[in-house]
Amino acid sequence: MSIVVTGATGHLGRHVVEQLLEKVPAERITAVVRNEAKAADLVARGVKPAVADYNVPETFDHLFAAGDKVLLISGNEFDKGRVRQHQVVIDAARAAGVALLAYTSAPGTLTAALADDHRATEEVLLASGLPYSLLRNGWYHENYTENLAPVLEHGAVVQAAGDGRISSASRADYAAAAVAVLTGEGHENTTYELGGDEAWDFASYAAELSRQTGREIVYNRVSVEAYAGILSGAGLPGQLATILAGVDVSVEKGELVVTSGDLSRLIGRPTTPLAEAVTAALKG
Ligand code: NAP
Repeated sequence: MSIVVTGATGHLGRHVVEQLLEKVPAERITAVVRNEAKAADLVARGVKPAVADYNVPETFDHLFAAGDKVLLISGNEFDKGRVRQHQVVIDAARAAGVALLAYTSAPGTLTAALADDHRATEEVLLASGLPYSLLRNGWYHENYTENLAPVLEHGAVVQAAGDGRISSASRADYAAAAVAVLTGEGHENTTYELGGDEAWDFASYAAELSRQTGREIVYNRVSVEAYAGILSGAGLPGQLATILAGVDVSVEKGELVVTSGDLSRLIGRPTTPLAEAVTAALKG
C-alpha cells in the first residue's frame, strides 16, 4: 500500500512529497509525474516514480493498488477539460479499490467560474463511491507574493476586489493538511474548508508591502473589466484573464473568507501569516 501523489512535481505536490518524507519511508510514496526527469531529485531520495498524464487514460491503468491512499492534485490545463482529466484518475482509483482519494478542491463558498471544474470533480468523486476527502483549499499567499515584480515596479497593488478579504495560507500549510489526511486515520468521506487563520484585504496587503520594503505601495482599485484587460495585456489568454478577474468579484463578496478553522486544526498549528510569505518573497 502506497501513498500516491499526482502533480508531484508541481508547487503544491513538491511540498506534499517533502512533508511526507518526514513522516513515512520513501518507498511508501509514489510520485505521479508527466515528466520523470523533473522528479529525478525525488527518485534519488527513494520515492517511487509513476509516469502518467491526465490526458492519456491508459497511463493510469494499474497505476494504483488496492488500499492505496491517493492525493489527486487538480490540474492546471484549463483548456483541456479538467473534469474529464480528473475523472481519469478517479476511474482508475475506483478500479483498483483504493482506500482513500483526497482531492484538492476550492472553497465551498466560491461561486466564481474558476470553481466550476472543482464542483464538477467533487460530483464525479462522490458518485464513484470511493472513500473521499475533499480538501477545499482556499487561496495561496503565493498567488500574490510570487507576483511582486509589477507591484514593486508601479508601487501599486492593482486588483478589482474592493474591500473584500481573503483567508489565504501558504502552499506549505495546505500541503501539511493533505499530509495529515493521507497519513492519519478517520478521514474517509470528509470535507474540509481550508483557509488561513487571518483574513486580510488588499489595502492591508499594500500596507504590509510598504512596511517591509520601506517604499510607498498603494492599493489601486480598478473595475473587473479593467483588471481583466491588465491581465490579458500581461500575456494571459483572454478566457483565463476573465476567469481570474472573476475571482476578484468573489473576493469582494467575501467568498474567499474561510472561518471553519479546519486548516489550523488539521495541521496542529496556526497557519503561516501573510507577512511571512511577503518576507520570503522579498528575500527570494
Ligand atoms: P502547479 O505548480 O501548476 O502544479 C500543477 C501540477 O499538475 C503539476 O505537477 C503538473 O505537472 C500537473 N499536471 C497538469 N496537467 C497534467 C496532466 N495532463 N497530467 C498529469 N499531471 C498534470 O500548481 P500548484 O501551485 O501545485 O497547485 C496545484 C493545483 O491547485 C493547480 O493545478 C490548480 O488546480 C490549483 N490552484 C490552486 C490555487 C489556490 O490558490 N488554491 C492557485 C493556483 C492553482 P508538471 O509538474 O509536469 O507541470
